[in-house]
Amino acid sequence: MDLHVPAEEGTFREEVRAFLAASLTPEMREAGRLATSVFAEPALAMAWQKILHQRGWAAPHWPKEYGGAGWSVSQRAIFAEELIRAEAPPLIPMGLLMCGPMLIGCGTPEQKAHYLPRILNGEDFWCQGYSEPGAGSDLASLQTFAASDGDDYVINGTKIWTTYAMHANMMFALVRTNREVKPQAGITFLLIDMNTPGIRIDPIVGLDEIPEQCQVFFDNVRVPKANRIGAENQGWTVAKYLLMFERGGNEYAPALGIQLEKVKQLAARQSIDGTHNLMQDEIFRHKVAQTEIDVLALKFTENRIKSALGAGKDPGALSSMTKILGTELWQKITELAIEALGTQALIWQPEAIVPGAGIEPVGPEYATTAMARYLNTRATSIYGGSNEVQRGIIAKLVLGL
Ligand SMILES: Cc1cc2nc3c(=O)[nH]c(=O)nc-3n(C[C@H](O)[C@H](O)[C@H](O)COP(=O)(O)OP(=O)(O)OC[C@H]3O[C@@H](n4cnc5c(N)ncnc54)[C@H](O)[C@@H]3O)c2cc1C
Repeated sequence: MDLHVPAEEGTFREEVRAFLAASLTPEMREAGRLATSVFAEPALAMAWQKILHQRGWAAPHWPKEYGGAGWSVSQRAIFAEELIRAEAPPLIPMGLLMCGPMLIGCGTPEQKAHYLPRILNGEDFWCQGYSEPGAGSDLASLQTFAASDGDDYVINGTKIWTTYAMHANMMFALVRTNREVKPQAGITFLLIDMNTPGIRIDPIVGLDEIPEQCQVFFDNVRVPKANRIGAENQGWTVAKYLLMFERGGNEYAPALGIQLEKVKQLAARQSIDGTHNLMQDEIFRHKVAQTEIDVLALKFTENRIKSALGAGKDPGALSSMTKILGTELWQKITELAIEALGTQALIWQPEAIVPGAGIEPVGPEYATTAMARYLNTRATSIYGGSNEVQRGIIAKLVLGL
């Protein structure tokens, strides 16, 4: 692994910092600070995307010809780190990280020309219609059916856990077009306008009382065949191509390091007996130290991935490894935050985590977000391919079991 940091990268970091200092509004920073999941308040996240787009930095990972920044792997990593440090609201990933790269790889010239600029400028808000009530890990068993009817498909069925379907005007979806063949061979990939008659969206309220996911129902929904990606019944190949970006695009260590630092600061302010604080408690310190070591190990694994990508190599099953480590450490850090807060973790003040609400927290500011963050991170080991499924991939590809 090459850990050498060229001098020009320091200059690049300074340029990014100066841009963030000048461009992020206090409301946007507040939205980043108050985010309790991978998503910040959508309107502010989209407003931030527009600013980044004007600078040409909304999708730095895309090829330059389609609007990417043309940066090296390490420049992209520096940019991601600085965004977290500056408390920028995270961008919504379904368009920029999933649909865009999929279109670049699999779309027709017309589809690319129409959709890619609209993803970059935020005109289209995408959601992902893969999972169904009977098809999650076993995605190929999906049943939502698209019947051929002239130049259209007519869709009936349902999708579930569709994140932000209530905000989206477009969905990329997998539908069944043939029931007579083996499951993977009868799936087609479609782009669906969410304003088409026959679509109903029911929000699902999470443990944290925030409705991020939805169930989407299709009742004779007509979708033009021109909205198909690839050939009919070849959607599984497109879906797998897209999943590579969904699973491979995450770097966890920088954000985990910052969150752990916040927990340490919080614990240092919590008195345990009037003379000692929680960071002086041997058992708590041991847990923090172990977590810190694990975050460091993850950071080096992520550096190995960056190094492999920078050298044009495929990091293989390393991304399954970082998905498991990253999400489980994320859960662990939110557990330490709850432990550090003690009874203050019970503060439930959802109105105080709405950006711009200006509501005074009843306890320490961190306590308003800690429980929602703890509850929301329970899902991180389920979505994007559950951790059990990732362990299965490692067993097969790395251990040869
Ligand atoms: C917060 C959140 C957001 C989501 N967003 C979206 C979205 O935007 N779009 C979308 O399409 N989907 C989304 N999903 C759905 C997500 O992809 C599925 O929940 C996930 O793939 C698991 O499927 P399932 O829920 O049907 O569980 P199941 O597949 O039924 O799994 C149940 C349990 O069995 C285990 N299991 C299943 N198969 C195996 C195996 N082969 N080996 C070992 N263990 C196994 C699983 O790990 C799990 O513990 C989201 C889910 C969550 C929780």
